Amino acid sequence: MDGLFTTSLKIINHTVNYPEAPPSATMRRMTTPSVQDKPQLPELSLAALQAMIAEWKQPKFRARQIIDWRNKGVLNPDMMKNIPSDLRQTLKDEVCCEPLKLIRRECSVDGTRKYVFALRRHRFAGKMIESVFIPEEKRGTVCISSQVGCVLDCPFCHTGTQGFEANLTAGEIIAQVLAIKADLHTEPLSEDLHSDISHIVYMGMGEPMANEAAVFASIDLLMDADGLKISRRRITISTSGLVPQIQRLGDIHPVNLAISLHSAINDKRDTLVPINRKYPLEKLRQCLNAYPVGKQRHMTLEYVLLDQANDQNEDLQALIEFINPDRERVNLIQFNPYPGSPYTGASKQHMREFAQKLISKGIRATVRRSRGDDIMAACGQLKANTKADSTKAEIIKADTKAQTKGK
Ligand code: SAH
Ligand code: SF4
Repeated sequence: MDGLFTTSLKIINHTVNYPEAPPSATMRRMTTPSVQDKPQLPELSLAALQAMIAEWKQPKFRARQIIDWRNKGVLNPDMMKNIPSDLRQTLKDEVCCEPLKLIRRECSVDGTRKYVFALRRHRFAGKMIESVFIPEEKRGTVCISSQVGCVLDCPFCHTGTQGFEANLTAGEIIAQVLAIKADLHTEPLSEDLHSDISHIVYMGMGEPMANEAAVFASIDLLMDADGLKISRRRITISTSGLVPQIQRLGDIHPVNLAISLHSAINDKRDTLVPINRKYPLEKLRQCLNAYPVGKQRHMTLEYVLLDQANDQNEDLQALIEFINPDRERVNLIQFNPYPGSPYTGASKQHMREFAQKLISKGIRATVRRSRGDDIMAACGQLKANTKADSTKAEIIKADTKAQTKGK
């Protein structure tokens, strides 16, 4: 099977069952997209659940018990052993406990796991998203989706070709993390790999800054002391450069920032990252200068090296002029081709040379190394695809060793 390591695919069958009645005022949340949908368990704060528990005339401590299960990734009330059956039933009636249905899980020989989920929400039921778990020795990173498809249409991006289909709710964003947490608990990885979630990157399907309310709410939930307790230093938002939203992110949630730059020449970036026509490099520059970056930390400029399109000497010089090396570093990304993609990637040799030239100018530059290439698990080029034998692609991650060694 060409090196493919197939594992048993987990198919979970649940009936989609949505009420027509609107949720009560205390249940309604900013990110609830439709009054026809129930609030989602993954997006409830302890306080919100306590308010609901009070409405249901149940003791307050039950909220904490339910949240503790939820934080472990146990979303099915029937699995919450210390919760009485009447409350389990109320929970099922009043709350959408499992907003995502796991359709498929694929495991790579290197430990990377790709998950395909279907939404259950009214009007969007059945739409697919993908998430990826990338294990290393000392960290486990989850790459999450923020939208179904993307409206921004970068011509080298597989997700972009799908067009925009839906914004995820905060609950659906967090549910990806919780489902992966539960899966890692049930089936841990080999001992040499980290089997828990330490880092989150918003690099799956969609443009997180185009789904601002839900993404901001999801960051709150990830960091929540009663929730997953993930520090903001371990959360990274990747964005193509929506300037006002990045400014608000810096004001409200100054998490790590990765900018999909891909060219430092306006004419070229207008084509490669079309949002550049609205927020050109000069505006992006001002925005990055103002973004709060902690001491010893750097923002990342992501740069997919495309043969002839952005890998020439003029591109290198423009990048050197654009970057602020004290606050920013470059991540060179190998292009992941997909059927019909109009570009080809620069060769590995050319990537190394490009990186070396940046490094010789005192710029931190990293060449990402591939992960999960046998299961088409590519952060940033995911496209909902229910076929198990999708075209080969790669998942990429920063090779921090290369960075520290200056390679
Ligand atoms: N919309 C956001 C986040 C998702 S894309 C953004 O654009 O930043 C995550 C990363 O994958 C981005 O840097 C994106 O430019 C990159 N990417 C998209 N398509 C790719 C491809 N075919 N090969 C390699 N990287 C790709
Ligand atoms: Fe959207 Fe990011 Fe793909 Fe561009 S690269 S189309 S912004 S997902």
